[in-house]
Amino acid sequence: MANNGFTTTLVHSDRRSTVEHGAIHKPLHPSSEYAFADSRELAAVFQGKAGFTYARQGTPTTAALEAKITQMEEGVNTVSFATGMAALNATFFTLLREGDHLISSQYIFGNTNSLLSTLAALGVEVTLVDATDVANVAAALRPETRMVFVESIANPGTQVADMKAIGDWCREHALLYVVDNTLSTPWLCRGKDMGAGLVVNSLSKYIGGHGHALGGAVTDTGLYDWSDYPNIAEVYRNGSARGWGLTQIKKKGLRDMGGTLSADSAHRISVGSETLALRMERCCGNALALAQALDAHAKVARVSYPGLASHPQHRRAGELFGGRYGALLGVELIDGIDVFEFLNRLRVFVLATHLGDTRTLVLPVAHTIYYEMGPERRALMGIADSMLRISVGIEDVQDLIDDFRQALESM
Ligand SMILES: *Cc1c(COP(=O)(O)O)cnc(C)c1O
Repeated sequence: MANNGFTTTLVHSDRRSTVEHGAIHKPLHPSSEYAFADSRELAAVFQGKAGFTYARQGTPTTAALEAKITQMEEGVNTVSFATGMAALNATFFTLLREGDHLISSQYIFGNTNSLLSTLAALGVEVTLVDATDVANVAAALRPETRMVFVESIANPGTQVADMKAIGDWCREHALLYVVDNTLSTPWLCRGKDMGAGLVVNSLSKYIGGHGHALGGAVTDTGLYDWSDYPNIAEVYRNGSARGWGLTQIKKKGLRDMGGTLSADSAHRISVGSETLALRMERCCGNALALAQALDAHAKVARVSYPGLASHPQHRRAGELFGGRYGALLGVELIDGIDVFEFLNRLRVFVLATHLGDTRTLVLPVAHTIYYEMGPERRALMGIADSMLRISVGIEDVQDLIDDFRQALESM
């Protein structure tokens, strides 16, 4: 299997691990508790032997999905969660303590931005920097710096972080580097290749891919030496240091905080993930064609898409993502067009939040997902009042282009 490609490995993953009755899909296990014929075996599993006890800490179904995510990221181990936010919470709250310093990209998901202010209120120092240049990250370094956090492609401004250079810089300073790979997915880029110690993926987006299940995951790439990390509890400092960080995230984060992925959602995400590469190829191709068509339209003021030569990180995105540029667009219409009226005239685009679905979704950003943040923080993130976010799906691209045009031209 080691030499098979991304999708071959993925679609054969379940049947190559131990599976009942030769089932092609790992059976769905809704059981909350797991029984033992031998009491010593029960105790052994509580004491660290691989196995299942209580479903809050995982089931055979979540374990099968975790194995797939680990394979996609070419990491060493993965813990799954009920949502991407639960995965981020577990990472930040179990690894950072009062007085620690976190350097984060300022171009991050709105709810993650809100989460960082909760962290700051508990005494973690947070510095937001323009992570499109490693020099800004380096300038924020303090003796208390513990972690550096970036998103691969920012939503909705599509800024592409200086990911690889930041990874090299973190390695030089023995800093834990966490990459949220949700927008690029392991198909466009592996966190490990960027130098990340931990990779977070929201499984609710492209990996699940069908807008019908929420999930999140944290993967240890094996690059970070946890014996350098001061905040690992004594009880998890045994055996190889390789597993310490993820053990703490699993025990303190998943077990104690309780944001467990249900077996049902894990199964749906697992099936959805099998076509990740196919969907991403189509979504990225559609996004590029749509971006080019909108960029050329007289009633469109600005298109933010890494695939356009005008994008400030166009060249970097091409290098990092193998000539693909993701499937998210930021679009601003010219002054004088009422964005609400325009949106109401679209027929194929779905007016909805979320991203990474098979369907193309659009929403006015400043009035919805970034409303609570206020104008100042929006300005910092480069979000104009008129900005639309488009998550491009797998439809026939001409239908998307025609729909946007008919709505614009009727204005
Ligand atoms: C959606 C998203 C999250 C949160 O994931 P949920 O599964 O919705 O909780 C985190 N990071 C990024 C970049 C996202 O797009």
